[in-house]
Amino acid sequence: FLQSMPKSETIKLREKHIGAACQLFFRSSPLKIVRGIAQFMYDETGERFLDCINNVAHVGHCHPHVVEAGRNQMSLISTNNRYLHDELVILAERLVKTMPESLSVCFFVNSGSEANDLALRLAQIHTKKKDVITLDHAYHGHLTSMIDVSPYKLNLPGGPEKPEWVHVAPVPDTYRGKYTYPRDSQSEEELGCLYANEIGDICRELKRRKGGVCAFIAESLQSCGGQIIPPKNYMQRVYEFVREANGVCIADEVQVGFGRVGTHMWAFETQDVVPDIVTMGKPMGNGHPVAAVITTPEIAKSFADTGVEYFNTYGGNPVSCAIANAVLDVIEEERLMERAARVGNHLLTRCESLKHKHRLIGDVRGRGLFVGVELVTDRDTRTPATVEAKHVVDRMREERILISRDGPDCNVLKFKPPMVFTTQDADRLVDILDRVLSELDENTKPVQVKLEVLVSPIRGVESNDMQLKTNIQQCVKAV
Ligand code: PMP
Repeated sequence: FLQSMPKSETIKLREKHIGAACQLFFRSSPLKIVRGIAQFMYDETGERFLDCINNVAHVGHCHPHVVEAGRNQMSLISTNNRYLHDELVILAERLVKTMPESLSVCFFVNSGSEANDLALRLAQIHTKKKDVITLDHAYHGHLTSMIDVSPYKLNLPGGPEKPEWVHVAPVPDTYRGKYTYPRDSQSEEELGCLYANEIGDICRELKRRKGGVCAFIAESLQSCGGQIIPPKNYMQRVYEFVREANGVCIADEVQVGFGRVGTHMWAFETQDVVPDIVTMGKPMGNGHPVAAVITTPEIAKSFADTGVEYFNTYGGNPVSCAIANAVLDVIEEERLMERAARVGNHLLTRCESLKHKHRLIGDVRGRGLFVGVELVTDRDTRTPATVEAKHVVDRMREERILISRDGPDCNVLKFKPPMVFTTQDADRLVDILDRVLSELDENTKPVQVKLEVLVSPIRGVESNDMQLKTNIQQCVKAV
C-alpha cells in the first residue's frame, strides 16, 4: 500500500498548495488513505479502518462492477450529452421507475450542490417567485446560491449573512429542538403539527406580502442538523402549506437517497409525500462525481419555455451514466436495501441498549443505515456533550473505526456506512463504542468526587461569606 511520498511530505505539500479552508479530518494527526475495499479503508502503512461515515462509497469502496463499468466506458468514449447515448437514457428511465409517477424528467449534473442549484433555478422559473424556506442547520451545497439557503454556513463569524428572501424555519428535532418530547407534547403527530405550523406562518405571511413562495427545500431526513427524523405528519403538512402558497417542494436526497433508509429507495417516501423536485448525488456514483435533478413535466416545460438552453459539459456524460447504472445494478443484485433495513435495525437496537448503560447517551434515532446517537452531559437539561463527543470520535479512530459527529453543537455521533456494512461490523462498532463510553464514565468519576470535595464545605458556609461562596461556585462551574 505504500505511496511514493512519506506522509510528512504529503502534509507539507498540502499546507503549501491547498487552501486552508479545505479542512482535514483529525487535523492534528490526519489520516492518509490510499485504498478502499467494501466497508474498509487502508492507510499508507496498510492499517485497516472500518468506515462508518462514508455514504458516498454506497455499494462499498471500489466495487469491482462499478470500477469495471467506468473503465470500460472510459476506454470507449466520454463526451457531452449533446450526442445520443444509451447509458444516459437507460439511467434516466431506471431512476424515474423508482419515483412517484409525477416525477419523470431528469437533468444530469456533477454534484449535489449543482443539483440543488438547478432545482432552485427550476423553482424560481416555474413559480416566478424568489422567496425560499429552508430549515435551520440545513446544508444544501457549497455554491454561492446554496450557501444562501444553508443556515449551517450562514451567519458564522466572517461568513455570509442570510439574504432577505431566505426564511429559516426551526428544524423538527423533537429531542433538542424548539418543540420537544415530553415538554411540549407526548404525541408525535402534535409535535409534527407544531413544527409544520411554523412554516405555515411563513407561507401565509409571504402570500400576503409577496403573493406566494418560490420553494421549500429540505433533506427528507436532516443529516447536517444531527441525524434528525421529522415527526409524523410534519412533511405532509409542510407540503400542504407550501403548495397553498403556490410554492414547490424540493426534497434533497443527496445524503439519504438510494435505499439508505432500507424500507424505501428515497427517504421522502418514509414521510408519505411526493415532492415536485428531487435532487440526488453522493451515493449515485459511488465516489465518481455524478448527480441529478428529477422533476415534473410541467416544471421542466416552464424551464424549456424560457428558450434558454441548459448545457452542462460533464453532466450526463457516458462514463458517469455507466457508473451510475452500475451502482443501481449492485443495489438490486446484492439486495442492499434489505441489508440496510436489517443491519440498520440491529445497529439501532444495540445503540438503544447502550443508552440504558451510559447516561451520556441522551437519544438514539435513525432509519436503516442512517443512525444518530446524541450525547448529553445531563439527560434532564439535555446539555450537549460536545467535548465528550469529540473524545469518542478520536478514541474510535485509535481503535480503527471511523465515525463523525454533527449537529449544531457537534454532539451527535453519526453512522452512515457503506451499504455493504454487516451485522458483525455493527457489533464491532457498538462494542468499541461501549468500551470508549465506559472509559469516559471512569474518567469522569474522579472529577465528580473532586467536585463533591469542593462543594461540601460550601454547604456549611455562613451567609456573610456569600461572595466567597459565589467565587467558589464559579470555580467549580469552570472545572
Ligand atoms: N445536500 C446535502 C444534504 C449534502 O449533505 C451535501 C454535501 N454534504 C450537498 C447537498 C452538496 O453536495 P456536493 O458536496 O456533492 O456538492
